[in-house]
Amino acid sequence: MTERGTTGPQIHRTVADLRRALAAERTGGRRIALVPTMGALHEGHLSLVRKGFALADAVVVSIFVNPTQFAPHEDFDAYPRTEASDVDKLAAFGVGHVFAPSAREMYPDGFCTAVSLGGPALGLETDFRPHFFSGVAVVVAKLLLAVLPDVAVFGEKDYQQLLVIRQLVRDLNMPVEIVGAPTLRETDGLAMSSRNAYLDPQARRTAATLYATLADTAARLAADPGDLAALDDGCRRLEQAGFRVDYLALRDAATLAPLEAASDRPRRLLVAAWLGQTRLIDNIPA
Ligand code: AMP
Repeated sequence: MTERGTTGPQIHRTVADLRRALAAERTGGRRIALVPTMGALHEGHLSLVRKGFALADAVVVSIFVNPTQFAPHEDFDAYPRTEASDVDKLAAFGVGHVFAPSAREMYPDGFCTAVSLGGPALGLETDFRPHFFSGVAVVVAKLLLAVLPDVAVFGEKDYQQLLVIRQLVRDLNMPVEIVGAPTLRETDGLAMSSRNAYLDPQARRTAATLYATLADTAARLAADPGDLAALDDGCRRLEQAGFRVDYLALRDAATLAPLEAASDRPRRLLVAAWLGQTRLIDNIPA
């Protein structure tokens, strides 16, 4: 089931084929990095691949649009699927292995295991997408156990997800180092995302307001850490620009817990907002 172009990565469709190929890759103590993705690769994903090569000898990229992290009304069917061009991009980076399983390979008949999450999974995304992190946690656990990488790289773009995965790996004693990578942005500040492809030209211009609002709100909070009215003003600005805001929230950067009064712990400003049918998320330190 493993496929190979003339020069590109091997494409593995089953866990068994992937494991066989990686056993050979691991000889001589070579280190392996995993970069999990849902495909439709952009420069942000490729920056994770670059980081993977800085940390390991071989990089495995998974491409899997995971059905269990989408609710029935969400964009699973519409999510962009561009495997051939994704593989070309990865070939240019020297990626040796792509794991692109079917949903049936990942969730065969009778699959019934779930993971119950707390801590950083509580609130924020979970308030609006209650199914989301349990789907992510199961698929990431399966990917980590299929690849058994030395290190796995995740983007800070999905900051809550990064903390949930760190917690999962710590709690289950998974022998892998989780490394976070900074968010790559377009020139107007919009965080790169596969979902940006949903935006029409006018929405794309408006979308820049999301990062501008985060940056200006964080600047106000830096000038006066107690100026929590900055959050209400940020929400209003987004709504005036045409967004429907799920949340604009200031949280403890390490735990995502609501802030204790007068705490001087690092903080993170996180936002999720809709432009038409497209939901965008972003975050920065604050
Ligand atoms: P996705 O394909 O959207 O599930 O993302 C796969 C990985 O790429 C996740 O770890 C994301 O956090 C990361 N990622 C997505 N967008 C960016 C970006 N703009 N900069 C850096 N990493 C990103």
